[in-house]
Amino acid sequence: MKIAILSRNPKLYSTRRLVEAATQRGHEARVIDVLRCYMNIASHRPTIHYKGEELGPYDAVIPRIGASVTFYGTAVLRQFEMVNTFSLNESVAITRARDKLRSLQLLARKGIGLPVTGFAHAPDDVHDLIKMLGGAPLVIKLLEGTQGIGVVLTETDQAAESVIEAFMGLKANILAQEYIREAGGADIRCLVIGDKVVAAMKRQAKPGEFRSNLHRGGTATLVRITPEERSTAVRAAAILGLNVAGVDILRSNHGPVVMEVNSSPGLEGIERATGKDIAGLMIQFIERNAGVRSGRTRGQG
Ligand code: ADP
Ligand code: MG
Repeated sequence: MKIAILSRNPKLYSTRRLVEAATQRGHEARVIDVLRCYMNIASHRPTIHYKGEELGPYDAVIPRIGASVTFYGTAVLRQFEMVNTFSLNESVAITRARDKLRSLQLLARKGIGLPVTGFAHAPDDVHDLIKMLGGAPLVIKLLEGTQGIGVVLTETDQAAESVIEAFMGLKANILAQEYIREAGGADIRCLVIGDKVVAAMKRQAKPGEFRSNLHRGGTATLVRITPEERSTAVRAAAILGLNVAGVDILRSNHGPVVMEVNSSPGLEGIERATGKDIAGLMIQFIERNAGVRSGRTRGQG
């Protein structure tokens, strides 16, 4: 098969591994910088051009679209979908996952356990919002944040109120969430491919930190997950319509709660922690599904 990997940087671990896994399994893989694609949105013969050439047909595309290029990246991916290239994750599913409010609302509608979460627009409503969420401690998050940047723990109602007001003053979109203290600075990353959790790791925040992101100094270890965690992760990915997802779960007193669903999960941490060939499993999923489901939209809303 001819497989296009949409990635801005061929040197990234995940990109290199995907090229390696595809080549090993006898496919032709090419890394394409999504920001250098330009398109003709014609209804009779839509085309994708790249650095002066028209891209020939690909059997499958693996989107590895960074959070900062979601808008243009998903537009390029839609163009691949228009020419019936199978996408490992569809553009609409990526768009759902990138919007934290939208994805939490979709998960809530289907009964997935979530931390109590709220959002508001007007500074006048902040006081009541905090009361509605049961008061501090609260975690305040920038909606567009990644890698733990823009995630703040506030221990008192006053601190929560001033942090929310400060973000609102900067015109930043935020959500406020119940702090799951009993998780002890740890979360579980479940790597879902299709209808299976193929690997799971526990990420533990460094001492004095509550954010477990590896980019914030967290450490990853292999973990056994419960059947409930397994089914929660698989359902969360399916509700958003993602074939491949990193589902982050907190172990709360009231069972597993989903914190976020990542549509381009990094491979380095999880392959190192579990010793599994995740890139190879992604390629195998493409082998089984490319051509069968091309162009179809899954998931809700
Ligand atoms: P990002 O998209 O920046 O990774 P997250 O929502 O995943 O943002 O939050 C970053 C980290 O902060 C999480 O991995 C987790 O360790 C911690 N965290 C986030 N929300 C909560 C919460 N409600 N309760 C406890 N810890 C949380
Ligand atoms: Mg996260």
